[in-house]
Amino acid sequence: MSGPKIRLYVDHALGAGQTVPLNRDQAHYLFNVMRLGPGGAVALFNGRDGEWRAVVIEAGKRGGVLICQDQTAPLRLPPDLWLLFAPIKKARTDFIVEKAAEMGAARILPVLTDFTNCERIRRDKLQAHAVEAAEQCGGTYVPEVADAAPLARSLAAWEPARRILWADEGRAGPHDALPPSPTPGPWAILIGPEGGFSDAERARLAALPFVVPVSLGPRILRADTAAVAALTLWQAAMGDWR
Ligand code: SAH
Repeated sequence: MSGPKIRLYVDHALGAGQTVPLNRDQAHYLFNVMRLGPGGAVALFNGRDGEWRAVVIEAGKRGGVLICQDQTAPLRLPPDLWLLFAPIKKARTDFIVEKAAEMGAARILPVLTDFTNCERIRRDKLQAHAVEAAEQCGGTYVPEVADAAPLARSLAAWEPARRILWADEGRAGPHDALPPSPTPGPWAILIGPEGGFSDAERARLAALPFVVPVSLGPRILRADTAAVAALTLWQAAMGDWR
């Protein structure tokens, strides 16, 4: 069954008969941009309660109220896959977060590596990109964007049951473009910055038992392309594309 065309993420709990207040931005989007009025239908999701068909019962300039009618989709969780990436230029970092949400990453973790050279990241802005991507792609789940953390610290505290698919530009070549055999369980993908990984980082990663290095083919990809390529490989081999 297909729900309403307009999809909106809200923080509020969703359920049959539940009313949902709108903030100013949401009201502006629904009533001014999308020209919805009382009785108009919207698909709501909050990342927890699936997707609900809701209708407008109050439309104002600075707010409004919707009421939930019925559930149009259950909550669909992505596979337990994290994306660790070194932030790059703003537009490309935004792209990585948007694509990771579309591709079904469960968590997005910016990591600061030896050659990371970006200005500070705005976690709230990146989270908003993940929300927009989920609205657009029909997702009922929104991946959390974590605060940026040094890669060394993340590795030191790493839970070894979660394997890391390490996109290693040092292996760029026509070989090993997939991990040897799909291994179930939690995973993370690691993508480096424009400058790649330092020798010290490469030595450290290569020595960790839970790290699985992978080539992404014979050409050196930009980090944003590499993130999408690695997510594709993993999803096709071990994720919810199968
Ligand atoms: N400046 C580096 C390339 C960095 S590319 C160099 O010239 O070697 C940015 C990131 O994308 C890399 O750190 C790696 O994680 C990933 N990447 C790009 N191309 C890749 C490939 N062919 N195989 C594996 N990883 C790749």
